[in-house]
Amino acid sequence: MSDNCIFCKIVEGKIPSRKVYEDDEILAFHDVNPWAPVHFLMVPKAHIPSMAHVGPEHAGLLGRMMALAPKLAAQEGCRPYPEGGFRIVTNTGAEGGQEVHHLHIHVMGGPRPWLRG
Ligand code: AMP
Ligand code: ZN
Repeated sequence: MSDNCIFCKIVEGKIPSRKVYEDDEILAFHDVNPWAPVHFLMVPKAHIPSMAHVGPEHAGLLGRMMALAPKLAAQEGCRPYPEGGFRIVTNTGAEGGQEVHHLHIHVMGGPRPWLRG
């Protein structure tokens, strides 16, 4: 837990979210401001500020997040590859467009056009 981190507060249940998935180390929830018909975020429960802070010790966790993404995308309504599919984005740092400094993976999909992305 990091003080004043909005995603730590969501992990702790202090701020409500529309949950997509949860296990002991990963939480997924809908983005409040979706760019696409399907748009949810996947976060590690542990506070890692950004992808720039990731090292070899996080390989297992990030591997599990990436391996889980296709299953959750399908569960949330993304049509199958190759006609459907989804987009995965991780903004990192100011120049990378990161606004919330708790590592998160955007998973977006659904019929186009999208608002952004
Ligand atoms: P980024 O610019 O990659 O840091 O993205 C942060 C994302 O978090 C944005 O898409 C926001 O819409 C989303 N967001 C911010 N606050 C919340 C919240 N309380 N619940 C769900 N999503 C949020
Ligand atoms: Zn945090």
